[in-house]
Amino acid sequence: MNLDIVDLTIEQKELLYLISRLTDHLNCSDTWIKETPLQALMFYAIRKGMFNDYDYAPISSSFLGQGRKFVNISKEGEDDLGDLRELGLLETIRLSSTKHDYITGYRPTIESRKQLSQFTNEIKSSVDSLFVCPDCNDPTFELVIDVGKSSFLMKCKSCSHSEGIPLIEPEDVSYSTKAYFFKTLGKHKTTQEDNK
Ligand SMILES: [Zn+2]
Repeated sequence: MNLDIVDLTIEQKELLYLISRLTDHLNCSDTWIKETPLQALMFYAIRKGMFNDYDYAPISSSFLGQGRKFVNISKEGEDDLGDLRELGLLETIRLSSTKHDYITGYRPTIESRKQLSQFTNEIKSSVDSLFVCPDCNDPTFELVIDVGKSSFLMKCKSCSHSEGIPLIEPEDVSYSTKAYFFKTLGKHKTTQEDNK
């Protein structure tokens, strides 16, 4: 397959570059990024205005061996992960975590290097900016996960500034949805916030 002619969307490029950055792809080809931290970072990036074409919604899914939770997942992002895989630019691995739980790990393929080397600085710097602390500007703003508390945050290694990532919807999400439901006299909540 000639990968030179693959025409990726901006979002696919951002996603591939994000994964290559997280797996330190150019220096070490033996690292995988697990789906949960990847989802957290994609969600964080969307909220920061990246991945222009992506939306997200809470989807009930089994979460890190802690039963089912409502996790904010981007359908478009998941589709692009599949597309990049089909194009031979991403590879996946299934890792067993707890007893009956499997998680997927991602990393770019060797073949993707050529593609990655052609990405513009605009793509790269927009992804890189996610990891720059908004407080002290150090490029040490990193994802910190506390699995027990289902808590995700970006934290600066230099100044300890942190920002929460509400990847998991709180348990009372169905309650607030119900309140909304009554307020709108039974109309389905089909509208998406129009913030684009
Ligand atoms: Zn900082």
